[in-house]
Amino acid sequence: MPQNPEKIQDHVELFHQPEYKELFERKREFEKGHSQEEIDRVAEWTKSWEYREKNFARETLTVNPAKGCQPLGAIYAAAGFEGTLPFVQGSQGCVAYFRTHLTRHFKEPFSAVSSSMTEDAAVFGGLNNMIDGLTNAYSLYKPKMIAVSTTCMAEVIGDDLGAFIGNAKNAGAIPEDFPVPFAHTPSFVGSHITGYDNMLKSILANLSEGKKGKSNGKINLIPGFDTYVGNLREIKRIAELMGVDYTLLADNSDYVDSPNDGHFNMYQKGTKLEDAADACNAKATISLQKHSTLKTCDFINKTWKQEVTLSSPWGIRGTDEFLMQLSELSGKPIPAELEEERGRAVDAMTDSHAWLHGKRFAIYGDPDLVYGVTSFLMELGAEPVHILVHNSSKEFEKDMQGLLDSTEYGKGGTIWGGKDLWHMRSLLFTEPVDFMIGNSYGKYLERDTKIPLIRIGYPIMDRHNLHRYSTIGYQGTINLLTWVVNAIFEEIDRNTNIPSKTDISFDLIR
Ligand code: SF4
Repeated sequence: MPQNPEKIQDHVELFHQPEYKELFERKREFEKGHSQEEIDRVAEWTKSWEYREKNFARETLTVNPAKGCQPLGAIYAAAGFEGTLPFVQGSQGCVAYFRTHLTRHFKEPFSAVSSSMTEDAAVFGGLNNMIDGLTNAYSLYKPKMIAVSTTCMAEVIGDDLGAFIGNAKNAGAIPEDFPVPFAHTPSFVGSHITGYDNMLKSILANLSEGKKGKSNGKINLIPGFDTYVGNLREIKRIAELMGVDYTLLADNSDYVDSPNDGHFNMYQKGTKLEDAADACNAKATISLQKHSTLKTCDFINKTWKQEVTLSSPWGIRGTDEFLMQLSELSGKPIPAELEEERGRAVDAMTDSHAWLHGKRFAIYGDPDLVYGVTSFLMELGAEPVHILVHNSSKEFEKDMQGLLDSTEYGKGGTIWGGKDLWHMRSLLFTEPVDFMIGNSYGKYLERDTKIPLIRIGYPIMDRHNLHRYSTIGYQGTINLLTWVVNAIFEEIDRNTNIPSKTDISFDLIR
């Protein structure tokens, strides 16, 4: 149906036009679906304990997953390095999904190429696609490094990336000394955080080969699969305030948050390749996300023979620990400016904690983020009830249980590892909570259960600019507190908006 070019309508308005209403009505007739009574009856039943048991007995079906696939994380890691082009050996559709997923979160273009494998590659293997793809990518986009990952298709066929890249170099597709780190990223195991870890490790291994020498005295800081641009900037700000000589591995903050100056720059800053290569000579490494950097940290520890410290700088305690680790490893004192920031964060928490104390939360998302959010909430006396991590692991569950056991506020919390958001729906209906914290996909749970959603995590596609804020450090603590406490006030206002009926006290001040 034609749109009026003078007044282009968003789909929110467009689908309310009579022609669309008629179309939907006809569709319903054509489908000959169940009666409304039957739909309502089943919908009601799906809220019961009986249905919850059936839902949790589910083994081979995922509904509304709370995770992405491996190559998405791999291309995100690659984008943190200067002049690097993420290249995916596999089908175009997968790469379109990764790019749009990241673009919808950051509202920024995300460049990644694919070798466009189709049926012939599925039968004969993807070597020719790799040779042609590398030739074109190198000559068209002029990168300094190409980072290769795979989709399910290339993994099922069994494409050998190391051999293929070697063959492509022999065929003259790219120069012999051109860096092409690669990571096999099969999506039928792991998730986007596994892909991130695999690719980061591969890039560091490739660039640092033969570079081990004298100590450069620096500290490596690894943010992990962190989609809060503000967090990367916060880490750099803290290190600079302390006068710490550091290398951020890797820094994609400018790539996913570039200034609009009228020019498209495919490669926005990022960690310099020579700095990444020299990272093997650092004094020590701190990873700020244990569970998205397991293999990378193991590699740094075993191959670079470097001390690796894990940190989770969420809330006051987490930030205190991070600053003390950084201070100890670098020999630099914590400046008064950061102490003042700490005081301000503690003051803000003192002002607001009464509103959070005793509130019950459901939290879902990636392991490191969920761990940080839970730790922050418990500092305020809030109670995590359902902790759902689809891409969980035994190690994460052990860490999380340790955190829950560390305070009385964690006693009522249950960790639901490997479960999806349809499981979460059953949990919310059978054991309701006051608030939910997670990514945009929870909006359908909010609609169903009427439990308000506070958007913290990845992806957030239906609210703007949240990714620009920090969630870590003292400043991030204040941001988190602001989002959570104001969501509580909005809920109170929503429930007390009928004068002299639900609004008895005309309360303006909270
Ligand atoms: S799960 Fe596999 S097929 Fe699906 S988008 Fe990811 S890589 Fe492609």
